[in-house]
Amino acid sequence: MTSVLTVTRFAPSPTGYLHLGHVRSALEGWRAAQRDGGRFLLRLEDIDQTRCRDEYATAILEDLAWLGLTWDGPVRKQSEHFDEYRRALDRLEAMAVLYPCFCTRREIRDEIARAGSAPHAQSGSAYPGTCRDLSPGGRDEKRRNGFDYALRLDLARALALTGPLYWVEEGESGPHRKRVDPAPLGDVVIARKEMPASYHLAVTVDDAIQGVTLVTRGEDLAAATDVHRVLQALLGLPTPHYRHHELLTDAAGRRLAKRDQALTIRSMRKGGLSPTEIIAQAALTGRGSGPP
Ligand SMILES: [Zn+2]
Repeated sequence: MTSVLTVTRFAPSPTGYLHLGHVRSALEGWRAAQRDGGRFLLRLEDIDQTRCRDEYATAILEDLAWLGLTWDGPVRKQSEHFDEYRRALDRLEAMAVLYPCFCTRREIRDEIARAGSAPHAQSGSAYPGTCRDLSPGGRDEKRRNGFDYALRLDLARALALTGPLYWVEEGESGPHRKRVDPAPLGDVVIARKEMPASYHLAVTVDDAIQGVTLVTRGEDLAAATDVHRVLQALLGLPTPHYRHHELLTDAAGRRLAKRDQALTIRSMRKGGLSPTEIIAQAALTGRGSGPP
């Protein structure tokens, strides 16, 4: 038996109202913490200040409280912790596992299309590595000329430092070990010229700082977990266990659209549904068994 207290978290981005799909994720973390007498933390992933709004942050907290999904301790707002991300970024830079990428979205798309016949079908949408081998002089010149850039993780270099990695998935049938394969996402963006953290870096740092022991989130983020495991190894951070849950789908088996206003908690509440009824809908498992 482990004596480590279970710490879970729910980490929405305040770019809209709380949605039934969010509640599914929150519920997974909340229940795991309840079951084990642990803690359920709340974090607002608001590093992208152009898309996040305070009014949504306030509404998310209100809706969670109304649903009874109460959290422990203060809410962590990523926008208040850029210094912590900056320190992690500096460490990665010192390890020479990052490189600046000056490509525009369009250039990346065109390059992927050109390499369309490459044998790695799975890495079809991953960044093709155009800027990985730019000379130091070439990089300096572009920076001097004020080009925008993103800092990408040089995956091959990173894996050469970490060696093979694993993480534990807490599946329905018990925990099992998964081998890390970050190749499908490729050399992901870790930071930008004006922003010391991407989603991947901020989440990895936050989970460690908040002492999260079990990350519960949708199965659409399973590939990101491979990247986060690499970052944990590079930064010497602990590795939580993970539970990737099925995404809610409609009666036809389609993933619920976050933009579907009818499925915000606000609308459902206005429509007369009680917290218990909404929680019951969010908890439905199995494809196609969700709300119509
Ligand atoms: Zn590039």
